[in-house]
Order: sequence, then structure tokens, then C-alpha cells
Amino acid sequence: MSKLPVIHFKAKDFKVNSEEQKVLAKLIKAAEAIVPIYQKQENPKFPGANFYPHDVTNEEIIEAAKENPDILSPYTMVERDKKGKLFTIPYHTKFKKELAKTAILLREAAKLTKNKDFAHRLCLQANALTDGSYEISDIYWITMKPYKIDIAIGPIDRLDDRLMFKKASFEAWVGVIDDAKTKNAKIIQNSIYDVKRKIFASSEKANFLDKTQLRVDKTLIFSGLFARGMFTSNSLPTDPNLMERYGIKITFFDTSLDLKFNNQHLPIFKRIFEKGFQRDYSEEILKDGSFRNVLLHEIGHSLLRYKDAESRLRELFPIIDELSATIYGIKSCASLVLKGIISEKELEAIMIMFICRAFTWWIDSKKQPSLEAFAIGHALALNHFLANGAVQESNGISWPNFYKMFLGIEELSDALERLISIGTYNDAKHFIDKYGSFMIYSRFTGRLKGLV
Ligand SMILES: [Zn+2]
Repeated sequence: MSKLPVIHFKAKDFKVNSEEQKVLAKLIKAAEAIVPIYQKQENPKFPGANFYPHDVTNEEIIEAAKENPDILSPYTMVERDKKGKLFTIPYHTKFKKELAKTAILLREAAKLTKNKDFAHRLCLQANALTDGSYEISDIYWITMKPYKIDIAIGPIDRLDDRLMFKKASFEAWVGVIDDAKTKNAKIIQNSIYDVKRKIFASSEKANFLDKTQLRVDKTLIFSGLFARGMFTSNSLPTDPNLMERYGIKITFFDTSLDLKFNNQHLPIFKRIFEKGFQRDYSEEILKDGSFRNVLLHEIGHSLLRYKDAESRLRELFPIIDELSATIYGIKSCASLVLKGIISEKELEAIMIMFICRAFTWWIDSKKQPSLEAFAIGHALALNHFLANGAVQESNGISWPNFYKMFLGIEELSDALERLISIGTYNDAKHFIDKYGSFMIYSRFTGRLKGLV
């Protein structure tokens, strides 16, 4: 990896006073300070990145974990001793020097801010980085009263661990809330939740609809895996038991979403969709569609958490989990159209952008293998739509009519919900073998020249 895993955004349209400006400057430095840690973890050449010895197999890890469960902890590096036996080192020991520096910056920011809750949050986060008390810090962050400035920093996403989907990568973001966009996003979230509250939930499903926080931020910096993945949203925590107890916190990154729409989603739309079909959709409606995909993805996640899904589907879990969240979210839009919160045309734009985003994941995963789960998941959807007549392809992608497309979404959503709620590892494997072909992407390579 040549480029440093850090992105500074030129975020505009937000106001901060001089005190807040000073706090932000410290937080940005803290986010920069974890870059060298992530560089020691990442390694796209190996499915287990640098979290495990490069020669280790899935089976060896599972066997060794019977004796030492810490091997499967999200927060340990696994190494071999002289005799070849696997042992673990906690992140806060392994990266002690870098984390001490990061913690100092967080504590300095805590001294500068006038918001007491936020100051406390920063101190708990600093503790977590230096002593491994992540849960205390996460719970406080998820349940605290929302504050204008926000930061997430530490070991968070597990996508780099393609071997076991266990190890968390260091990453950070710093943002300032966008009140107007947050308000709009909450309207959609609440009306979908209102419908779902009336549906009986099975006992294995984690239920925390009344404990979700949601915000749309202008982002100032991404570092670590966040910079590599250029993510547009995040939902924490990921453990369904914690979610049920404390709720979840969803963040949308307006700045990276904007960049992705302009540089990828819109140009892809112009290349892969049939020309006559394209004329019906304005840039504005497509941009809303792009944002709503991300919004619906996170809402979908919050409605589809099954406590045993990860242990059933193992390393295939993120493929099914990430796709089913979006598809379930889009399916739930039917009630928004019914209530007149969005128009049918706007729902169509959401589906168009789903397809454009699929190609974006494929393009991005070529450089960043940790995004493969998204690319495979979206291939499952596209192939499923094509095989079942929801979309067609001649001189570009289009659909015969909107009704068919929506039925295609419903059919796929049912299949995925079955997998995530009660499916076995083999069920998931079978579904992926049947619909996971990347041919659906690669046959557009010619049209996507300069973008791929
Ligand atoms: Zn997701």
C-alpha cells in the first residue's frame, strides 16, 4: 500500500466557534496519530492481513482458540512463539507507544471543550485505547446526549479480517453535525420503524428500535480503514447483545457521500444505464437516491440483527449481512411511498443508485480486498434481478417496468432474510455460488473505461 491511509476533507457549510475549532484541531491530530498503527495491521496480500501469522489456516485458529479464546478477540494480534505455538498480544500492549500519543491528544481536547459530556467521552476513549476498556467507552458514547462535534477512534470494523471476520482495524473519523440533514433522515427512519413496531419479532431478533441515535455529519478526516474504504456510514456497536441493552448509534458521512456520488455513482449511471431510460431521472433525484441507499442500509441493519447469525454464517456473514440490510431497507420504502413521504419516482432513483453503488463496490474492491464482501453481496443482487426478470440488459441496464423491479426486490429480500435469520453456512454458500459471479460487472468494463 503506497498511499497513506488518511483523508482530509475540505468540508464546508458548518459553523464552529474558536473553542470548537481548537477542539477539532486536536481531534484531527488524534485521528492522524493512529495511521501508523493501521499500517502495521493492514496487508491486502493475506486474507488474515497482519492480524495472524501469514501461514495460519482457519482450522488452526479455531483449534487453538479452544485452549486460548483470546485468539478470537477483536482486540488482539496473534503471533507464533519459537515452538510455532499461537499466542496473543492485546492491541493496547502491542501498539502502546502510538496509543499513548493518541490518548494525550484526546485528553488535551477534553480540557479544551466546554461540553462536559463530550470531555468525559474523550477521557473514557483515551482510557480504552491505553487499557483495552472499549466497552465502557463505547456504551458511554452510544448513550450520551448528542453533541455537535463527534469522533470515533480505535479498533472498530472487522472487514480487513477476511480469514475469520474477527479482528478490528484501527480507524477514526471526526465530524460536525448537519442539523437539517439529520432531521430529514430521522423522518424516514421513524416512519419505517413505526411500521415495523407493529410486526411481531422472533425471539432471536435483537430489538432496540427505541434506542437508536442517528446523525448526519460533515466529515473532516478519515484515517485507518475508514480512509481505505471511504465509507459513507457507520453503525455501532456490532454485537447484537450490546445493541439490545444500550441501543445503536448510526452516523452518515455527508462529505464522503458527496464525493462518491460525483466521482463514481453519477458517472457510472451515465455509462451503464440504457440512454432512453436515463432521461427520466434528474441529477438531483439521483443524488437523493444515493444518500437514501446509505440511510436505508443502516436502517435495514437495525431491523435485521439476529443474535446467532454470525456464528452460523461465519466468514460469509458480512456478505449476506451487508446486502440484506440494503435490500430490506429498500423494501421497507413501500410504506414511505404509501404515506407520501417519498414519491414513486424517488423510490425508482433509490433502486437505480443501488445498481450504481454495486459497481462502485466492485471497482473499489479491486484496490481494497476488504471491500470484497460488499462487491460479492451486490453481485448476488444484480444476478438475482437479471435471472428473475426484474432488470433487463440491452444497450445498457433498464427494467421492463417498475412493478417488476419492486417485486424483484421483495423476492430477494425474502431469500436473504431467510439466510440471515435461520440459514446454515451451506445455504449461504449455495446462494453465493449460484448468484455471486462477477461477470455481471466485468462485462461492463468497456463502458466503464477510466473509472475501473
Ligand atoms: Zn453495513
